[in-house]
Amino acid sequence: MELINDFPKKIRVLITGGAGFIGSAVVRKLLQDLDCIVFNLDKISYASDLSSIDYLFNNNKHLQSRYNLLKVDLSNFSKVDEAVKYADPDFVLHLAAESHVDRSITGPKPFIDSNIVGTFNLLESVRKHYDNLNSGRKELFRFLHVSTDEVFGSLDDFGSFDETTKYDPRSPYSASKAASDHLVNAWHHTYDLPILITNCSNNYGPWQYPEKLIPKVIFNAVNNFEIPIYGNGKNIRDWLYVEDHVNGILKVLLKGNIGEKYCIGGNQEKTNNEVVSSICEILDELMPKDFSYKNLIVYVKDRLGHDQRYAINSLKIKSELAWEPKYSFNEGLLITVTWYVKKFKAKK
Ligand code: NAD
Repeated sequence: MELINDFPKKIRVLITGGAGFIGSAVVRKLLQDLDCIVFNLDKISYASDLSSIDYLFNNNKHLQSRYNLLKVDLSNFSKVDEAVKYADPDFVLHLAAESHVDRSITGPKPFIDSNIVGTFNLLESVRKHYDNLNSGRKELFRFLHVSTDEVFGSLDDFGSFDETTKYDPRSPYSASKAASDHLVNAWHHTYDLPILITNCSNNYGPWQYPEKLIPKVIFNAVNNFEIPIYGNGKNIRDWLYVEDHVNGILKVLLKGNIGEKYCIGGNQEKTNNEVVSSICEILDELMPKDFSYKNLIVYVKDRLGHDQRYAINSLKIKSELAWEPKYSFNEGLLITVTWYVKKFKAKK
């Protein structure tokens, strides 16, 4: 693949949140397909799963020798500073965040600590690091901040978000991510830190913590539990398979214009009702019962301030960086459901 040739050899990559859902997919890609040294800074929270990386090391000492886990909470500046010095990075990929909207509604403080204070601490430490690099390494250095389409607010039936959309976050989660985007931009404009920002739509795929819609529905169905859908189930999200997101992040890292943002989406808009129905239909084929899994669906009280619709216009990353998603929603969902069924059945 083209990225393999573009990626500098033996480069030092500091990734934050590399033990989470998307971060671990980035770490696997960096270790398996590219020749770089990876420093995974993660506080290891309930959402982390180190087995999403560790399985790569069975009988592969070479991969393991290129991987370093730094168990650090971004809200602790001195620990972050130590970690940045130790990693001595050429690239920083910032994914660590508290990421679940429902948790941000019941308890917003960790979102402020991780997503805002944590991003500030990382930026301050990385700024010092960048200022001390020699000119060759400075030329190469990039800080890529991974963000969400939720910072743009909610859409009605028409239109889509793009790089020019104004920020209008509406949940504690999206407000904390918006704040982190603004900080990253400010560190570019004020201190010349070479940053890039990506705003991506909803991801799905293996290794996501089963509090998010798709793994939760599969977990409940496999266990014969009710499948809850918020409100009337008509809220729309634009779904992207996680590997497509990872390829987008790496394209922006290597080819994006410093100081710019890139919207990444799958152009696969689905209502929650459609997503849940599709999962049930796949399960009806994969592990049939004498009733359809759709019979387990129940409608529950809507999430507070539930955004109605998100949709991303990815024209910029497609036309400028030749990025395209490889997986249709149906293809990605089949892989995903099959993977979780195996995982959840093995646990029983
Ligand atoms: P996740 O919750 O699965 O993983 C987040 C990881 O960050 C966890 O391992 C956690 O331990 C770590 N982390 C959280 N706070 C930390 C702190 N203070 N210090 C160190 N580590 C900390 O999240 P995800 O779904 O993989 O999302 C990764 C990033 O992508 C987030 O920034 C999120 O906002 C963004 N994003 C996610 C989606 C999505 O659909 N999941 C879509 C667009 C953007």
